[in-house]
Amino acid sequence: MSEALRGTRLGATSLENDRDVEFAPRMTVTYNCPAGHVINMPFAVEAEVPVEWECHCGEMALLVDAVKPEPKPVKHVRTHWDMLLERRTIADLEELLEERLALLEADDDAGLRSA
Ligand SMILES: [Zn+2]
Repeated sequence: MSEALRGTRLGATSLENDRDVEFAPRMTVTYNCPAGHVINMPFAVEAEVPVEWECHCGEMALLVDAVKPEPKPVKHVRTHWDMLLERRTIADLEELLEERLALLEADDDAGLRSA
């Protein structure tokens, strides 16, 4: 009988511990989906909250009033076109195009003349 009581008390103690874990401070984090959905996610206070959350619609929802950890360097993938524009303006390119076209025409003329 006394053995059983002791066992019960031990069980009760461990249950209380479980309850403490369950009531760990939580916060609700809100994300706004670009498609207009609002997502509320419960996070433990000490948890690292992601700035983006994938919405059920597949869009990446953005954290509301995000405390941005540190601005990640945006990895912009440069295309050949980007690199070209770093050296040339559109006006330059149009001028080059005109030059090339003029040369092609001149070549055609030369070709016709020698034939
Ligand atoms: Zn959505």
